[in-house]
Amino acid sequence: MNVAGILKVKGSDIVTARADHTLLETAQTLAAHRIGALVVTEGDGRVSGIISERDIIRAIAENGAQALKSPVKSFMTANVVTCVPEDTVADLMNEMTQGRFRHLPVVEDGRLTGIVSIGDVVKQRIAETELEVEAMRGYIASG
Ligand code: AMP
Repeated sequence: MNVAGILKVKGSDIVTARADHTLLETAQTLAAHRIGALVVTEGDGRVSGIISERDIIRAIAENGAQALKSPVKSFMTANVVTCVPEDTVADLMNEMTQGRFRHLPVVEDGRLTGIVSIGDVVKQRIAETELEVEAMRGYIASG
């Protein structure tokens, strides 16, 4: 299974933020959608960053509750690692492990078309493992 297959199952809904939104607005959006990160986009749809719950925690730890009035651009990660529809589950696991993050925006021809989280990757990996176990059971039973 690859990224295209994962998006087919989960859909390509993407919740985004603007760089001038406050961290409070961002925290409220994350809570409302029960998600852990927002892709930061420009007016033309270009990806300019990613802001996750961890960035908000860091902002509060460093500056106290007043950090919630700060703009997203002060705490987002601007150097975003993205993936493409052809990437496999193994590729995603590798990127997330190497980069120590749990979200990968999907970008095609410079356009944001989805986001894959570690939860999607684990769900897919478990489904694949269960299929492999079933196949092995069938093979052993037929022997
Ligand atoms: P996460 O584990 O996704 O909550 O994010 C942990 C840290 O990595 C935060 O500082 C995020 O801004 C950053 N981050 C999350 N996803 C990515 C990504 N795809 N590329 C680069 N940085 C990221």
